Amino acid sequence: MNNLTPRQREILKIVNQKGDISIRELLQLMDISQATAYREIQELSQMKLVNKISGGISRMSSSSQSCVQCGRENNPRTAFLIDQIDGERLVACCSHCGLMALAKRTNISTAMTTDFFYGTMLSASQAWYVLDSSINLCCRPSTLSFSNPDEAKQFVLGFGGVVLNFMEAQQKINEMMAHNNVIHQI
Ligand SMILES: [Zn+2]
Ligand SMILES: [Zn+2]
Repeated sequence: MNNLTPRQREILKIVNQKGDISIRELLQLMDISQATAYREIQELSQMKLVNKISGGISRMSSSSQSCVQCGRENNPRTAFLIDQIDGERLVACCSHCGLMALAKRTNISTAMTTDFFYGTMLSASQAWYVLDSSINLCCRPSTLSFSNPDEAKQFVLGFGGVVLNFMEAQQKINEMMAHNNVIHQI
């Protein structure tokens, strides 16, 4: 999986929060040269994490496709994006389906998940997952993503569930789905 540089992550965060941003605004927000901005944007756009628009970039829309795993309509609030090596982008409705879809595939270049608190995208392999809490936004067992493990732990104190890293979460969710016929809906 590709790891984003801290600067690319910062750009993604900004564009995902604002929806779109011009190069000029980006230069003002971040202390970088125009050449650097263009290079980072080029890479992000090649990874299909942002759309290039005239004079700037915009957030990738992830709401138009249905979930690659369960077929339900995708919700940008919980989206899980999987980019394959061949350039095709798969969208899962939530981390639950995203982690299951990932486990079945070997041709993955990047996977991104949505932070439950902030709505920002982060690398799926670096996220923390809360499984089986009482908050059911999408598929069950509920799987929510967090960029900050401390926040995930705080969340569990209030809403139950267990905090797992990427590998643990992927293993656990596939185990749970294999062992019982969990209903794949609310
Ligand atoms: Zn799904
Ligand atoms: Zn789901």
